[in-house]
Amino acid sequence: MELKTALTYLKGIGPNRAALLKKELGAETVGDLLEHYPTSFLDRSQVYKIADLHGAEMPQIQLRGRFIAASLQGEGARTRLVTAFTDGTGVIEVVWFRQAASIQKSLNPDVTYVLFGKPTEFNRRWQLVHPELDTEASAEKHRGLRGVYPLTEGLRNRGITSRQLHTWMVTALDSNPPIPEILPEQIVRANGLMSRAEALHAIHRPANMIEAQRARHRLKFEELFYLQLNIIRYGRNRKAALKGHVFSKIGHYFNSFYERCMPFELTGAQKRVIREIRSDMNTGRQMNRLLQGDVGSGKTLVALLTMLIAIDNGTQACLMAPTEILATQHYESISAMAGELGLNIKLLTGSTPKSRRDEIHSQLTDGSLNILIGTHAVIEDNVRFARLGYVVIDEQHRFGVAQRARLWQKAEIAPHVLVMTATPIPRTLAMTVYGDLDVSIIDELPPGRKPVTTVLRYDVNRQQIYNALHRQLLAGRQAYIVYPLIDENPKLELRDLQTGYDNIAHLFSDFKVAMVHGRMKPSEKERQMQLFASGEAKILVATTVIEVGVNVPNASVMIIENAERFGLSQLHQLRGRVGRGADQSYCILMSRQNLSHDSRHRLQVMTATTDGFILAEEDMKLRGPGDIEGTAQSGLHINLKIASLVADTPILQQARTAAEQLLDADPQLASYPGLRLTLSRLFDRTMDWARIS
Ligand code: ADP
Ligand code: MG
Repeated sequence: MELKTALTYLKGIGPNRAALLKKELGAETVGDLLEHYPTSFLDRSQVYKIADLHGAEMPQIQLRGRFIAASLQGEGARTRLVTAFTDGTGVIEVVWFRQAASIQKSLNPDVTYVLFGKPTEFNRRWQLVHPELDTEASAEKHRGLRGVYPLTEGLRNRGITSRQLHTWMVTALDSNPPIPEILPEQIVRANGLMSRAEALHAIHRPANMIEAQRARHRLKFEELFYLQLNIIRYGRNRKAALKGHVFSKIGHYFNSFYERCMPFELTGAQKRVIREIRSDMNTGRQMNRLLQGDVGSGKTLVALLTMLIAIDNGTQACLMAPTEILATQHYESISAMAGELGLNIKLLTGSTPKSRRDEIHSQLTDGSLNILIGTHAVIEDNVRFARLGYVVIDEQHRFGVAQRARLWQKAEIAPHVLVMTATPIPRTLAMTVYGDLDVSIIDELPPGRKPVTTVLRYDVNRQQIYNALHRQLLAGRQAYIVYPLIDENPKLELRDLQTGYDNIAHLFSDFKVAMVHGRMKPSEKERQMQLFASGEAKILVATTVIEVGVNVPNASVMIIENAERFGLSQLHQLRGRVGRGADQSYCILMSRQNLSHDSRHRLQVMTATTDGFILAEEDMKLRGPGDIEGTAQSGLHINLKIASLVADTPILQQARTAAEQLLDADPQLASYPGLRLTLSRLFDRTMDWARIS
């Protein structure tokens, strides 16, 4: 057999099962099937004695012996087969609840069987329920360590078990198909990897756990290496292909702002990222940069200063935000900061009236508008710029790659793009997830910030919390109280919010309470936000619409109801709404008392750290990288079979370095046809490796 042999040639796989395997696992050939890797291993290397069974928690083990009694008990659907099995050292009760009658018929008292299962002690007698049942001959096929394979719903429904998959793997491997090496020889050597052939054999039936580990390592490396090769190559090609504006000078606007309007000294991190952006803007290649910085790290000022560079070089700039509230806030803070410069700055959102919209359109095309700030409205087809040089996208996870591309189409030369996000993800991961973006990080908060004190509290503590809140309000501070989106059900959500609001308004009747939620009319939302921002309302009861952007430095308390329903990154974003002023701020996570282990752990991590990177990593460990905001729209379909972008960061780093070195030496991989073929098979939708020769 060969790797490219169709699966129907494997014993036990007919056209129906072949079709099923294709549908469920995407496997059409022996090679495809062998790339369905086990997630853990069962140990069938030893046979235990019944006399040696002990302890409360036995693992799955093998026993060898004969059946000395078997009888059907119970009636109808309740019928079960109860047997006695002995290996000469003791007797164990073996029970089947399903297919009891047919199993009874098949049992032969003269045959030696091998059982595999997890023994339990029941009424001081050992019992084995539904073990795997083999004759000595068939047990031979499963000897040693055996992979446990992930199964899809579809496979399960059609009765395909992990054991069945393993049998096919063994049959395929026993036919000794030639397994060529795909990785360049020097990379295999330099990274101490198993050969591909060794690894494919060892991953399905390793001699021991160390061998299994080495096989996993090799296959993870290989997978991450392909991923990195593809991404790096894509990024390099894009850079080479896309010409960009050359912003060679720092001019009037930047300098005047720096000298006259700077509200404060830049932090070291702000200075560094501005330098990184500046030097990108000067290369003649289009910049595509991701700016990561925790909430409150001062990304807006970076955006403004770099937009001034674009204007100094004769182009227009555009800042796009995901929500109307956020766009408005950017518009206000940027207008306030840059007011003295005499720039023409305009806000464009879905609710901008027609007459104003027309004015904006004409000022954009005649070039008199310098900075356009807005929501999705700015990428509508009828919005045209005279000379768009620079686009800043805030909270990009809501904008996909396709939307970014639409912006580029608005200009003859693609504008430089800065994507800002407060969702911190580890650097290597960012490079993978956002593929073609370079990464800048603001890892320093402006001076004088006190870390927010975070505590976890339950309903029984409610009175105490409200007392503390009352003291803060009396001291002149303001507070947020946030309710989660419940069950995606707008009615329930509003009801809970309304109940919460009524309750709070009643308890704190001396203070004005505002309320916002996602389904309010924009004008009403705006009015409520304004009440809170101006300080007239002391409490803002809200859903997560306040998550991004809202900036009220006087707010020092954030109470999050049903905190267990939120992801860590989201909690972190919410918490970022407080701690913006000079006062000590508090974040109170309210939750149910009986929490799952994971939920409790998550909330405890929240109380233990304010470091967004640590939280992001924890979030990914708990929820998997598939859930990281942004990955779905990142334009890369990352579908890993064995590696984890989170747990395998060290391997990811090694693979990345190896991929960079290889592409430095051979940018088109001309000397590696096998590698090119593999890449085109894996990534045919992102780029055509097969065409490169
Ligand atoms: P984010 O990165 O979350 O968008 P902002 O840009 O909204 O953060 O900045 C948060 C707050 O910090 C704002 O009130 C802003 O004026 C202030 N700020 C920004 N940079 C500095 C700095 N270098 N020194 C002091 N305060 C700053
Ligand atoms: Mg911001």
